[in-house]
Amino acid sequence: MISNMYIRGTQVNYYFVCKTKLWLFSHNITMEKEHELVKLGKLIHDSYYERDQKDVTIGPVAFDVIRKNDEIEIREVKKSGSFEKAHEYQLLYYIYYLNKLGIKAKGILSYPKQRKTIKVKMDSEKEKEIEKILSEIEEITKGKMPQPSYAKHCRKCAYFELCFA
Ligand code: SF4
Repeated sequence: MISNMYIRGTQVNYYFVCKTKLWLFSHNITMEKEHELVKLGKLIHDSYYERDQKDVTIGPVAFDVIRKNDEIEIREVKKSGSFEKAHEYQLLYYIYYLNKLGIKAKGILSYPKQRKTIKVKMDSEKEKEIEKILSEIEEITKGKMPQPSYAKHCRKCAYFELCFA
C-alpha cells in the first residue's frame, strides 16, 4: 500500500484536463453537481446501464460500473471522447488501486453516445506513470492554486465563472 491512495479518480482525470480544476476540486470547491453537462453525463449513465451494478465505492475510489465475469471489469462511462487520455488514466488508477488491494481487474472505457468502447490494461510502465502522477497531484494540491489559463474547454467547465467572471 502506498501513502497517496486517498487520491480520487476524478483528481487523476483533472490532472490531465486542467491543473487549476484539479486544485479547486481537491480543496472541496465543487460546483460539478450543478452543471448541466454533468447532469447529462449522469442521465446517459443511468439510461444505458440500468442493469449493471453501479457506483461501487472502495476507499476514495468510486466506479461507475463494475462487473464480474471471470475477472473484475470496471467500466467508466463517459459522454464524450474529448479527454480520452484523462479518462484512460482515471480508469488505470482504479485498476492500479484494485491491484494494490490484491484484486486483478481490467477496464473498459465506454462512450455510449458514440457507441465506442476502449479496453484499458495495466502494465509495468503504466504503473510507474500512475505513481508519478499521484506524486505530482500531491505536490499541486499542497501548493498555491495554479493560475487559470483559458482554453477551449473552459466554457463548458463548471468552474468557468470562478476563473473568468
Ligand atoms: S475554467 Fe478553465 S482554467 Fe478554470 S478550472 Fe475550468 S478548465 Fe481550468
